This record gives sequence, structure tokens and C-alpha cells, in this order.
Amino acid sequence: MIQNIGIIGAGQMGSGIAHVLAVGGYNVMLTDTSNAQMQKAMKVIEGNMSRQVGRGKLEEVEMADSLSRIKTVAGLPELANADLVIEAASEDEEVKRQILTDLGPILKPEGLIATNTSSISITRLAAVSGRPEKFMGMHFMNPVPMMELVELIRGIATDAPTFEAMREIVLKIGKVATNAEDFPAFIVNRILVPMINEAVYTLYEGVGTVEGIDSAMRLGANHRMGPLQLADFIGLDTCLAIMQVLYEGLADTKYRPCPLLVKYVEAGWLGRKTERGFYDYQGDKPVPTR
Ligand code: NAD
Repeated sequence: MIQNIGIIGAGQMGSGIAHVLAVGGYNVMLTDTSNAQMQKAMKVIEGNMSRQVGRGKLEEVEMADSLSRIKTVAGLPELANADLVIEAASEDEEVKRQILTDLGPILKPEGLIATNTSSISITRLAAVSGRPEKFMGMHFMNPVPMMELVELIRGIATDAPTFEAMREIVLKIGKVATNAEDFPAFIVNRILVPMINEAVYTLYEGVGTVEGIDSAMRLGANHRMGPLQLADFIGLDTCLAIMQVLYEGLADTKYRPCPLLVKYVEAGWLGRKTERGFYDYQGDKPVPTR
């Protein structure tokens, strides 16, 4: 039975995953190479849980219990006894391969491993984990406490008990699972991120301004967020990484990342997490940067 879950990467996704698993009754060990990021994650989780209490979605006592189930730990060796480890580090295949290569020999033999990758081949990552049958993709959506869906992606070797164990977790935390095959970017990002990339081309070619493009899609296509707003929310580095995986993985020029997206990432303007992307978030109200 799964009770103790390790999470590697305490960024936007790792902190959200820790939040929902702790509320679901699991014990969570959260680790990151950056100490500051781990501290920030705990503050974010507390703030988001408080907001849920304010909206009547969580009892005060549930919040206290949930927070007491999350601890930050110094590194991978501390995850040795986890029943499941979820990798939620940056969307960079080299980073993920290194983490999984290091984790394999540390984690107890019956421990399961999931990756929250948005786009990278599950089968390829499984191969370096040393236990491909106990490895699969578990793709949460951002912001994790609000979004209902989790995509479940089997690698070529994933066994049935592993898949069932992940499905049970999704149900226990009150989310809905959808199955996707192991092709670049799975379902949601295969459709969503090329749309975002097209919005950046629309900006790049001067067809519309940042605000024009976003309000066109909000009011004209009834999207809750404009695509550039959404790109800032996801993280421009993550969007670019996903486009690169699509471009290389499907070998089709229709997935060519927009040069303007590349430029923003090169500038370190990664969206909300760095307070600047297609909008600047330093003031009270987001201001378009173009
Ligand atoms: P993020 O940049 O907010 O966080 C990534 C974290 O990983 C950082 O805190 C970084 O310090 C940490 N990290 C990097 N290398 C590490 C290592 N070797 N060991 C431990 N920690 C390490 O990114 P994010 O948005 O949380 O994305 C994380 C993963 O989730 C990516 O694979 C991404 O594709 C996926 N994802 C993102 C979204 C989204 O909307 N942002 C949605 C679904 C899935």
C-alpha cells in the first residue's frame, strides 16, 4: 500500500502535488536542489491551503493535519523508503535522467517511480530508472490544487499493478484520470502548447499585441485565459522545452518553436515565476512587455 511519497523538485508543480497528496492523507517528503525553493514551496502550500479554508473547501484542522504530513528533506537518500517517488524537476531530459539514474539504486526495490514530465518519452526515462516495469508518467495540471485532470502514461514496460496503484492515488485525491499513450507531449500539451506557440508567432509577426491576442482568445474562443497569459502561467521555459520535444520527437516543422519564445527564455523572462514574461508582474496589475 502506498503511504509515503517522495517528490523531487519543489517548484510550481512539486509544491502543488505535495499539497494535494497531503490533503489526500499521504505522507510527503519534498526535496529540491535549492533550499530557498523548498522554503518558498512550504509558504506557497500554506498560503494556498489557507485560501481553500477561506473558501470553505478545507477545514482548519484538515489544513493543520495536511501541513504536518509534508516535510522537506535534504536529498535523494532521504527518499530511500518511499513507496512512490514522483519526479517533478525542471523539464530538461538531462536533469531528469541524472535524477533517475541516481534514484534507482537508492530507492527500496518495491518502490514505484512516476514522472510529471509534460512531454518527454516515458519509455526513455523508464530505461534509466533501473525498474521500467515500476515506472510511469503521472502528469498533473497546473495549478494542481484546482485542476481536476491527471494524465496517466504507461511506458512500454509498465506493469499492471503499477498502473493500478497510480490510478488509485488519482481517485483518492479526488481527481480524474485520463490515459494517454507515450507519444511526445501526450494529449493535453500536444494540443495546448502548439496553440500557445502559434499565439507567440501571431505576436512575432505583428498580427496582434499581447493584450489583443489574449482578449481575442478569451472573448472570441471563450478561453478562460489568453494563450500568452497561459504561457506565462505555465513557464516559458517549460513551453519551449515541450515545443522542442514535439519538434524533435515528431520531426515535423509545424512544431518549430517561435524565435520570439526562444528569445524570452534566453532573456530569463520565464513568466510568472520570474515576475516577467509576456507580462510584467512586479506591479499591482500585469503590464504587457510588448
Ligand atoms: P519549476 O521551474 O517551477 O520547478 C522545477 C524545480 O526543480 C525547481 O525548483 C528546481 O530547483 C528543481 N530542480 C532542478 N533540478 C533538480 C534536481 N536535480 N533535483 C531536485 N530538484 C531539481 O517547474 P515546474 O513548472 O514545477 O515543472 C516541473 C515539471 O512539471 C516539469 O517536468 C514540467 O514539464 C512539469 N509540468 C509543468 C506544468 C506547468 O504548467 N508548469 C504542468 C504539468 C507538468
